[in-house]
Amino acid sequence: MKIANLDNRAVLVLGDHVADIATASDGRFGPDPMSIYDDWDAFVEFATGVDTATGPLDEAALGNPAPRPRQVFAIGLNYGEHAEESGMKLPAVPATFTKFPAALSGPFDDIEIVGDMVDWEVELVAVIGRRADRVAAADGWQHIAGLTIGQDISDRHLQFAAGAQFSLGKSRRGYGPMGPYLVTPDEFADPNDLALGCSLDGETVQDARTSDLIFDIPQLVAELSAVLPLLPGDVIFTGTPAGVGIARTPPRALRAGQVLETWIEGIGTMRNRCV
Ligand code: ZN
Repeated sequence: MKIANLDNRAVLVLGDHVADIATASDGRFGPDPMSIYDDWDAFVEFATGVDTATGPLDEAALGNPAPRPRQVFAIGLNYGEHAEESGMKLPAVPATFTKFPAALSGPFDDIEIVGDMVDWEVELVAVIGRRADRVAAADGWQHIAGLTIGQDISDRHLQFAAGAQFSLGKSRRGYGPMGPYLVTPDEFADPNDLALGCSLDGETVQDARTSDLIFDIPQLVAELSAVLPLLPGDVIFTGTPAGVGIARTPPRALRAGQVLETWIEGIGTMRNRCV
């Protein structure tokens, strides 16, 4: 199942058309894109039977499929080569910070460049369906509604100001593009092994596979839910692979006028213009 946010309404994607979820369910679910996560099991049961479109799919008009999570978890140093390029040791537990929810944005929104050290980070993003509290890794996937694409846009100056403040440096306005689709785990041949990457004006700068994650999604659900409950609609940015701008010689950064394209196999492509 493929879900999207079209004009702030939850829709099911049916090929090149969509079914508006509030219309199709006579108001039982939706239109708020966040409402479908409230009773995920009932929603999935309903949505599985929907096969009648209510309108065309206008991809460029899609927004973030989980725009207002209560909690956003983000994981640092979760790919070996990225830890290496950052000059850091592999963490024994997930290196966790937050992107404040108000920083999240849509898959085709502009990124406002502030200063000269704004960096890209392609990430696989998991959205929680069923509440997870003290969940074992073996059951981790049962709590995931679906997967989407994220960019953990990072102002490196702010991130490392005052020592280290990852959460603020990664939470400037619009520094968390997500989308364009939320794809349920059953849609992937292997949801633990997806190609992901991003390009800057057509030049590929990150190119990896999620099978190289140090802590995969079920392990992250276990590690995080051992500390606090993960709530329906919560978002986990799972970490970025090698190839970020700050680790290059000389360092590179996003510049106004550039177009950042970000893709994950089986999900789609985001396109964000730097302004
Ligand atoms: Zn990141």
